[in-house]
Amino acid sequence: MTSIARTVIVNSTRLPRKVFSVFVELEGMYRNMVEQLTMYAVSSGITSFTRLKALKYRELRKQYPHLPSHYAYTACQDASTRAKSFLKLKKKGLTDREYPEIRNVTIWLDDHLWKTNSLTSISIATHKGWVVVKFEPHKQYWKYISREWRLASEAKIKLDKRNRQLIIYLVFMKEVDVYKPRGYLPVDVNENSVALLVDGVVYLFETGMERLVLGYYYRRKSIQEKYDKLYGVNSRVRRKTMRKLKERNRKQDIKWKLANIIVRVAYEKQYTVVLEKLGKNPAGNMIKRIKDEQLRHRIYQASFKGIQKAIEEKARELGVPVFYVDPKYTSKTCPIHKSQITYDNGSRIGKCSIGGELWHRDVVACWNLFFKALGGDGSIAPSPRGLLPVDGSPVPLGSTATHEPIEIQRSLWARWKSLDAMRDHKPIQTSI
Ligand SMILES: [Zn+2]
Repeated sequence: MTSIARTVIVNSTRLPRKVFSVFVELEGMYRNMVEQLTMYAVSSGITSFTRLKALKYRELRKQYPHLPSHYAYTACQDASTRAKSFLKLKKKGLTDREYPEIRNVTIWLDDHLWKTNSLTSISIATHKGWVVVKFEPHKQYWKYISREWRLASEAKIKLDKRNRQLIIYLVFMKEVDVYKPRGYLPVDVNENSVALLVDGVVYLFETGMERLVLGYYYRRKSIQEKYDKLYGVNSRVRRKTMRKLKERNRKQDIKWKLANIIVRVAYEKQYTVVLEKLGKNPAGNMIKRIKDEQLRHRIYQASFKGIQKAIEEKARELGVPVFYVDPKYTSKTCPIHKSQITYDNGSRIGKCSIGGELWHRDVVACWNLFFKALGGDGSIAPSPRGLLPVDGSPVPLGSTATHEPIEIQRSLWARWKSLDAMRDHKPIQTSI
């Protein structure tokens, strides 16, 4: 059993001025606490919530005696999270600031600070006592209410000052049973594609993530230069145009659609998804041709980390097990002869140093992930008998043939719901 969480966002009804001003005051005090705590945490290097609370709780209570005491708890949680991610950025050299900027404040609530009244209203504890807030439910909310999800005790609220509304972040939880896997589904993630090995066939899904990130990067840069010249540095017009770029949406869309297809295959076949274990900073090796460090980080986050995370999350939701293997040499070792495969500079097709057969890099990676998973831990999945000979028996494939994946363009798979759509495609067997 694992438990998974989903956040659902609902808006409150428009609040009376007097009620809303209570939340404005509350937000002010909360922001103050978070700012102090974050500064303190960053300068003293304390990122543990319990330590921060132990050191600062009394002081905060003295400062805000009218505020329900648990705001001091949640502010510490909030601040320690901010401090942690800031120090991480700092360590990677991705920020020049001394302290993180506390721009947006979302008030964290724990089980003492809010409660549900009905299906469409909650009460929030404030310095003026409990305040009832009605909200506007929507389709997605009812979906979670009516299914096997339960509401978590943590929630967050944010103020929408223009509309005098609260934006309420509710968290729903669910317990999921992880099945006992019958086989493996290796997934090799790259900057521009994702390959998966399904019962002896490698499918290569084009994502174009690197191109997407680079494209937006150059577009942003040219907009910046153009507008700064016309309207001065950091103008409103520029910010508005930038927002219209929708880079995030495009990336999210690609990520989730692909994760859906992959995890559904695993679920239908009751397989374990096999992923490469990403190291601390593998971006350096994987996309080293990108010189700009921030840009490299972005590409890495979007393509490698982002896609893996989406697969992991989708897998958790469906109870699909995920197994990680060491990525070392996965694309350099011949899956048949265990010898070295050499690639001419930049080519994705390599040659085995013993058999002389040609291999597509992603096909090699998938097979090696598969073998590593098999050898890694027998307990996670029974050996897939009858799937392929793993005992080193002779190879049926002619040694001069190229082991190639079935490539699928993004324009094609973006409309798919599952790999079943693949049946119209002619598979090229790459059996070993
Ligand atoms: Zn070979």
